[in-house]
Amino acid sequence: MGTKVARLAALPVCDPLVSGIPLHPRWVRFARRLPSIPKRRKPIRPAVFLDRDGTIIEQVHHLTDPADVRVIPGAAEAIRRLRSAGYACVLVTNQSVVGRGMLTVDGLEQVHAEMNRQLAAEGAALDGIYWCPVVPTTSDPTVVEHPDRKPGPGMLLRAAAELGLSRRRSWMVGDAASDLHAGVNAGCRGSILVGSGYGVALRTEGDAEYLVAKDLFDAGDTILGPEQA
Ligand SMILES: [Mg+2]
Repeated sequence: MGTKVARLAALPVCDPLVSGIPLHPRWVRFARRLPSIPKRRKPIRPAVFLDRDGTIIEQVHHLTDPADVRVIPGAAEAIRRLRSAGYACVLVTNQSVVGRGMLTVDGLEQVHAEMNRQLAAEGAALDGIYWCPVVPTTSDPTVVEHPDRKPGPGMLLRAAAELGLSRRRSWMVGDAASDLHAGVNAGCRGSILVGSGYGVALRTEGDAEYLVAKDLFDAGDTILGPEQA
């Protein structure tokens, strides 16, 4: 299975806008412009928040064509096992291709329909899909430019509120540093870096606390490990 733990530099904590959530000052600045978070359902269910590209489907730079969608081997089985164990599986994906005008919302839905079709063919499904169209102006994976764009926690917070998820019992899995920081910023139990996309290169950056897994299947093993025993 091969996991390791390193220390992730937690972002500075400041006054929470949303009760109980430590927020980075940069996030607060943007959060004040947001409409209020929807009325919360009681947070009961744990979740695994999943990045899309390089985590569920193969990494394709600025993916716009459904024909390029390939679910990574083992990803569907991981999702199926996690849901069987009671975890909601929620996709949270930065999609600047929409903000850049390279893909319409309808086109993005077609990409997701193809992903869902491939997952369903292996008996898997997602509990929710959240995406953010914001185009970044920095490549720093720790800078929150917009609360919804990872490393901002906005998509995770909205999913938790809408789906009744317990963030403290949830995990974030992705192949980029921004995914790991989104998990930290959302107050998740932990973040797992997968090596199936950009993850391999990031392992050397290392000032951080996160688990490392080979791929989503391996990450699922890590999450379920103690509970399966
Ligand atoms: Mg990714």
